[in-house]
Amino acid sequence: MAKAQPASEIDWTNLGFDYMDLPYRFLAHYQDGKWDDGELTEDGTLHISEGSTGLHYGQADFEGLKAYRTKDGSINLFRPDQNAKRMQRSCARLLMPAFPEDKFIAAVKQVVAANADYVPPYGTGGTLYLRPLMIGVGGNIGVHPAQEYIFTIFAMPVGAYYKGGLKPTNFTTSYYDRAAPHGTGQSKVGGNYGGSLLPGDEAHKAGYSDVIYLDPATHTKIEEAGSANFFGITQDNEFVTPKSDSILPSITKYSLLYLAENRLGLKPVEGDVFIDDLDRFKEAGAMGTAAVIAPIGGIEYKDQLHVFYSETEVGPITRKLYDELTGIQFGDVEAPEGWIQKVEV
Ligand SMILES: *Cc1c(COP(=O)(O)O)cnc(C)c1O
Repeated sequence: MAKAQPASEIDWTNLGFDYMDLPYRFLAHYQDGKWDDGELTEDGTLHISEGSTGLHYGQADFEGLKAYRTKDGSINLFRPDQNAKRMQRSCARLLMPAFPEDKFIAAVKQVVAANADYVPPYGTGGTLYLRPLMIGVGGNIGVHPAQEYIFTIFAMPVGAYYKGGLKPTNFTTSYYDRAAPHGTGQSKVGGNYGGSLLPGDEAHKAGYSDVIYLDPATHTKIEEAGSANFFGITQDNEFVTPKSDSILPSITKYSLLYLAENRLGLKPVEGDVFIDDLDRFKEAGAMGTAAVIAPIGGIEYKDQLHVFYSETEVGPITRKLYDELTGIQFGDVEAPEGWIQKVEV
């Protein structure tokens, strides 16, 4: 794997969402019942046993968060404590050892500082995407939790999700489920995503940007997209997002529930969103760290495309939510207490 080009040679306006082998990543090992201190390493290849449970049995979980360059050149992290906590919950579900929250945040900061040249300049819309990952390793063959684990955090610069500004795209529903009713949908675990590749591919081939999964028990309610939660704005200004045990609790979602109420004066609602009752929404979107806020033009269901605001224009409330959230992340808008942590370079 070729190392990333020097940061000075990167065209920041032309970044996608692609792997890049940056100079440094954090790597820690769990052995004999405890985590070591971990350290930065230049080696982006993991050396693990063929018996690693992460490879066979999906004993693997991950996180995703971003570092943002502000106008004054400093670097912001957005709610990294929430990623640390969610990863601990994912670990608990897979019988993996928790990585302590304070050490998680310190390691994220270490990785960002060591690769600081690769945090895209303010104004390009780019960010440094961070990928914490934990896997069960060591010599195993039975379906049992591993005795040894690797925790790593690597990073890469990624571009603005929408190059020409916010633009709606169409989504489709699927026959397939993302998660089982009492399965692992709530956890950010590797196994959830292998199974999403086929429905995602079918959606892309049919011309849609992604799948909106329905609830696995009844297929009557919207759950979420492949890697983003759903929201709709009702005619009477409620910010509605599905409540379900089989969706991934998005940090962006909880942040927007708060901002919708406290900054935009919308009523935040977590509840059922029936797929045959979409007329109640005047705008809709998908939300997550990678997508930020992706306006949904329409959703295809049973060969009918239900269009919300417009297939070509972003709605005014979706835009306000986007501006408020990204303003906070890039340091232009005052953040609620505790949401922003600075990286000392
Ligand atoms: C990561 C993820 C999200 C978004 O969560 P954020 O914390 O907002 O990044 C939503 N749905 C799924 C399935 C995810 O994996």
